[in-house]
Amino acid sequence: MKHSDSKDNVEHSYGSAPVGIMDPPAVVLPENSVFSKRAKRLRELSGRVASLRDFLGFMARVALAQHQVLASRTPEWLPDSSAFELALEHNMAPLGIHALRRDIDWQTELTAILDALELHVGQAQRPLLIRLRELNSASLDALADDVLEGRPGPEKLRGLMPLVASALQVTWVRMTQALPRPPKRPPHEARSLCPCCGSAPVASVIHIDGKRSGVRYLHCGICATEWYLERAKCSVCDRSDDLNYLGLEDEAGKAVLPMQAETCGDCQSYLKIVSREWNAGADPLADDLASLALDLMLGEEGKFQRSGFNPMLIAGE
Ligand SMILES: [Zn+2]
Ligand SMILES: [Zn+2]
Repeated sequence: MKHSDSKDNVEHSYGSAPVGIMDPPAVVLPENSVFSKRAKRLRELSGRVASLRDFLGFMARVALAQHQVLASRTPEWLPDSSAFELALEHNMAPLGIHALRRDIDWQTELTAILDALELHVGQAQRPLLIRLRELNSASLDALADDVLEGRPGPEKLRGLMPLVASALQVTWVRMTQALPRPPKRPPHEARSLCPCCGSAPVASVIHIDGKRSGVRYLHCGICATEWYLERAKCSVCDRSDDLNYLGLEDEAGKAVLPMQAETCGDCQSYLKIVSREWNAGADPLADDLASLALDLMLGEEGKFQRSGFNPMLIAGE
């Protein structure tokens, strides 16, 4: 499938892709319901993956709190849409995680998430909320840096990082809503970096709806933006010759989740791919968490390096 936005159609190198109504959009900003849908999916998954039941159940609670905070809170400061024009014009990520982290008030989003969670967490998680409320602003910022850089952080504070990540996600999803329009498809050399915030994708997703039916997108784990990538192509090295698909199966050989690892023999990396053709409610981030066993399996085998970045699940050393 060819892809381009209407402006590029005139000059792009594939020749004459028509400006057809069926052209899937190159970049899709997150919907308002991104966290509520994720919460629903995580709840489902917590009922299906017994070994991760509590973890996924807690993550479902967190996603619901993210939804409430995104829907109900109006932050005191948001960037003006004109602030993004220059970046959008020059094909640079307008919401770069490094450029913006110091300027924005993500900690108020965190407090709001903790408030929304307060009445809904069990004894096991309550200490996490208390610890986070006790940390000073500088320590929280240091944790945010660790999350955004994919570093495991100090061992004693590692358990707090998914909650820090949840606040950063709300902050960035909110900022995508201030963009005057979606960015263009990223340039070739940056094809596997989010065109909004510059993060690596958590996984890719095959859609089933409307113009995007059967089309594959990379999904950002920070800002939930999705951007087009041809199917059966390695997101890291761009080759297609040695791709294989590996999933988790039950004893009867039936797929457990609509999630597979797309492994590339050329660069020895893999990125997971989730298909809504298998399950309409599948969510790249939720299904990535639920298919942790697949990463463990590939990790033990030692042949392929994971390229996906899930801020909710940064592994320790
Ligand atoms: Zn992003
Ligand atoms: Zn590759």
